[in-house]
Amino acid sequence: MNDRQIRGSVINGYLKYVEKTWGKDGYEDCCQKTRINDIKIRDGQQYNHDMLLAIIHWISDTHGAARVRQAGKHTVQNLGLLAYIVRFANMDTMLNKAKNLYADAYSFGEVNTTPTERGAEVTMKDVSQIPEDCIGWEGAFEGMLELTHSKGRVLKTKCQLKGDSHCEYDITWK
Ligand SMILES: [Zn+2]
Repeated sequence: MNDRQIRGSVINGYLKYVEKTWGKDGYEDCCQKTRINDIKIRDGQQYNHDMLLAIIHWISDTHGAARVRQAGKHTVQNLGLLAYIVRFANMDTMLNKAKNLYADAYSFGEVNTTPTERGAEVTMKDVSQIPEDCIGWEGAFEGMLELTHSKGRVLKTKCQLKGDSHCEYDITWK
């Protein structure tokens, strides 16, 4: 799994959510249990994706899977690059960029979006490794809806971890 790399900005996004939600104590407990302790995570640098999985496990084991959804949402809303783009964008524009934004932050997997009558369908192949990953993505898409002031919902329609060829999310806001 060592070839799975991820940008520090995503790890930092999740860590910021941990600190915001459970304070310094929660943050320190998380860093200790995940052994991130003394590493200074830099936004632009690449890290092993296992580090993010460890944080997601910590959130899920300590506070429940619903919190992973919120962490995903919080992270997408606080990524500097995305927040910058979204100031000039609506949901369509942002999802058009999703494929490239994903590829910039993740060294593995593939994201594709297809417009539908009421929004868009997002497919993610070889992205999620644990069910909590998918929950985090659901939250991330909800975060995008909020960022663009779109009223809508995210529905998970397929899951690679359950035998489908990829994970699929149906996002509607039209
Ligand atoms: Zn899935």
